[in-house]
Amino acid sequence: MKKLQAPSSKLQRNCKFQIRNGVCRDFVRPLHTPFDATPLELGIWSFSGAWCLVLGAWGFVLPMFWPILILLAALAAILVTHFWWRGKFAQLKESSRNEVETLNQSQRQAVAQVQTQQEAVLNSMAEGLLLLDGSGRIQLANRAFADLFGVSQNLRSRTILEALRIHELAELVDFLITEKRVIGYELKLTLPQERWLQVNGAAILNGGGHRHGAILVFHDLTRLKKLERTRQEFVANVSHELRTPLSLIKGYVETLLDGARNNPEVAVRFLQTIERNAERLNLLIEDLLVISELESGRLKLNLQAIPLRPAVEKVFEDFKSRAGLKEIRLLNKTIEISVQADPNRFGQVLSNLVDNAIKYGRMGGTVTVGGELSAAGQVEVFVEDDGPGIPPDALERVFERFYRVDKARSREQGGTGLGLSIVKHLVQSQGGRVWAKSELGHGATFYFTLPQAAGTVQQPLL
Ligand code: ADP
Repeated sequence: MKKLQAPSSKLQRNCKFQIRNGVCRDFVRPLHTPFDATPLELGIWSFSGAWCLVLGAWGFVLPMFWPILILLAALAAILVTHFWWRGKFAQLKESSRNEVETLNQSQRQAVAQVQTQQEAVLNSMAEGLLLLDGSGRIQLANRAFADLFGVSQNLRSRTILEALRIHELAELVDFLITEKRVIGYELKLTLPQERWLQVNGAAILNGGGHRHGAILVFHDLTRLKKLERTRQEFVANVSHELRTPLSLIKGYVETLLDGARNNPEVAVRFLQTIERNAERLNLLIEDLLVISELESGRLKLNLQAIPLRPAVEKVFEDFKSRAGLKEIRLLNKTIEISVQADPNRFGQVLSNLVDNAIKYGRMGGTVTVGGELSAAGQVEVFVEDDGPGIPPDALERVFERFYRVDKARSREQGGTGLGLSIVKHLVQSQGGRVWAKSELGHGATFYFTLPQAAGTVQQPLL
């Protein structure tokens, strides 16, 4: 069947068959009348007709020709029946051909629809899926697979090595072919980025038990692995942090028991060290409890409007004596504005930052707390000191658990290395963010934002 633009006169001239909807249809034409017949058929018709006429005329004249006449009439009847059946048959043939064509078309549409649905299902899977044929060539790779391996989805007919160049995976496929099943194999990728994948696979067997291909499913374990690593590091850090003061306490107690208690001067010094380390343990356990509460997701916040200036004054009051020991001046430069926060948690954030500013600030220096309205209804609070500051590469890391710029100094100051990670958690859980700026040798400034309390008006500081 040839598809044509329009049933032009040229088409009508050139088309040996029938034109319908601009299409030249290549089927046997139905014959309803002798005039639709082919030239050969017309010839037979004309020849038979002429002889009928001639012999008919003779028949009337000569009765001996009557049997021939009857024979001719029968022949004419057979011919008419033949042409009638031929027309009927051609009609039936055309309609059955049309039906077959319609059926084929709807079958093609159904197959295309099923394919589209399958593709949608496979591409919406979170797991990577790879289908191999009997010779180990890729038949199908879904979108998640392409994303996991950083390749295009069009890998059809390529082997694993050609498509991915990962020998470990190629060996796994070979193993799968002999063993027929792979469960929970962990594959570590380094490119395009570090990833851990769990691979499950099965060989596809045909009815006779012969290998027909293989299917592999890849689960991304990267997040779980990272969480596991963080947890392991955390446990190792906690154990280390607990062990140091505990072994000191144990050592001093043993020395006291061994006789040092008999020297009152030495005994007092040892007991003071024990007390200091016990306090350090206490602080560490308190911070760990806060972290566990924050991470459990059970943190209950009692959000309310907190006027900034009085809140800063209250924190200064708590740190007055400690600041006095280092002759540090405490300056409150906040404007009259309120934040929407939990009073206890807000106090915890401010105390941690002011504590650090005093701890790491210089002797006789100044600690300033300020706060003003920033963009998008957020209040920006800063805590600034004029101490040694923080090196640029550590500015982000100081918010990590147990990260310290100077470990010895932090411990000597009674630090746990958890204060800023608690601050970050608390600020974020109240809808804000936290960051630090510093110029080495010229102090450090810690900033955090919190939503402004609704209905509070900004008033300039007098
Ligand atoms: P720590 O209990 O050790 O103070 P933090 O989490 O509060 O733990 O602080 C992490 C580290 O960040 C500190 O050990 C210190 O090295 C550094 N740091 C924090 N605040 C300041 C500051 N104001 N000036 C200089 N360094 C600071």
